[in-house]
Amino acid sequence: MTKSAQLFQQARRTIPGGVNSPVRAFAGVGGDPVFMERADGAYIFDADGKAYIDFVGSWGPMILGHNHSAIREAVVDAAQRGLSFGAPTESETTLSELVAELVPSMEMVRMVNSGTEATMSAIRLARGFTKRDKFIKFEGNYHGHGDCLLVKAGSGALTLGEPNSPGVPADFAKHTLTCTYNDLDSVRQTFETYPDEVACIIVEPVSGNMNCVPPQPGFLQGLRELCDEFGALLIFDEVMTGFRVALGGAQAYYDVKPDLTTLGKIVGGGMPVGAFGGRREVMEYLAPTGPVYQAGTLAGNPVAMAAGHACLSELRQPGNHDYLTHVTHQLAEGFKSLADKHGIALTTNQAGAMFGFFFTEQETVTCFKDVQQCDTERFKRFFHLMLEQGVYLAPSAFEACFTCLAHGQKEIDATLAAADHAFATLAAD
Ligand code: PMP
Repeated sequence: MTKSAQLFQQARRTIPGGVNSPVRAFAGVGGDPVFMERADGAYIFDADGKAYIDFVGSWGPMILGHNHSAIREAVVDAAQRGLSFGAPTESETTLSELVAELVPSMEMVRMVNSGTEATMSAIRLARGFTKRDKFIKFEGNYHGHGDCLLVKAGSGALTLGEPNSPGVPADFAKHTLTCTYNDLDSVRQTFETYPDEVACIIVEPVSGNMNCVPPQPGFLQGLRELCDEFGALLIFDEVMTGFRVALGGAQAYYDVKPDLTTLGKIVGGGMPVGAFGGRREVMEYLAPTGPVYQAGTLAGNPVAMAAGHACLSELRQPGNHDYLTHVTHQLAEGFKSLADKHGIALTTNQAGAMFGFFFTEQETVTCFKDVQQCDTERFKRFFHLMLEQGVYLAPSAFEACFTCLAHGQKEIDATLAAADHAFATLAAD
């Protein structure tokens, strides 16, 4: 028995399913999860000492590569001065100023501890500010596990909220309206059905939770215009895309300005941090300046602030995003041409430093319905073939892959060699 298997068995005795976040259990790909012990640069090492080229990067934060010295040193330095004070510190302002500089639509910023907290709080703020209850989200977009966001996305242009987890009362979800990603007509119809009731739209400006699905030209701009027409706020959930699709996030890449933005992952450099921010007038509606309540004992934690600041300071160096985009392009194109070589139908999507690949005959994948038509069994097989060869991809056909600055030519070549073998095996199956 491997050490990973032993650890999983032991974990299941005290941790539900053996994991603290469900996708880690490999439910989407079958088999036992690999327990990790350490990571460095582009590599992650399991409990049995096997090395993998990592394209999960802790689900996004590790954009500099694992165990980066600048972040490690900043964390150690901050920890030597105390772990948490529950009182204001300069480090919160320093990181907020840097975020506001890199993402100019975020005139004011509030720090929280996770992406879930950021989206929950941003929606509460939008509802409080507009004095409206309903909001629009998109089928296949994920915004954390807040009650009103965990709503099953139904088919059709408009689906009244129906919770997709027991424990979420239908009453909590009834104000959540679900539209189709990349379909502006579905959004217009929803606004026209509830013209004065929609507080905001929340959208992943590049969707990374139904694999990787970028916006079609004009989609984000169209959302901006509809929000303006109907007096709703536009929230870009950039928990995944922030600082990754471009230094200024997807809003810089696609040149569309939201009213509010939510961040997570990279903003904390690997420590538990989320943030939300936006127009001053809206943000000042938050307690203690305004009436909308939001708080956190560990929010703005000094060790986490130091990690986030170190991460963003390194990442902003010129050339980094060009490099990330180039490496990501090489991988996406490489997967596509190798699949073609072996007669495997594959479609790829890319935006900056995130990409996705789909086992499908469809030439484009632009919404959840398209994603659902992909061959998930083939993905499972491919995932395990890559894992065996030391390439760690996201263990689900519904997750995007992430590149980092530590992915060099050696790692790209090794990944493509492994993919060549995996596609050949699929073709022979
Ligand atoms: N929004 C998006 C777009 C996400 O991808 C995620 C997590 N993957 C979240 C929100 C929730 O963040 P967290 O897991 O930190 O609560």
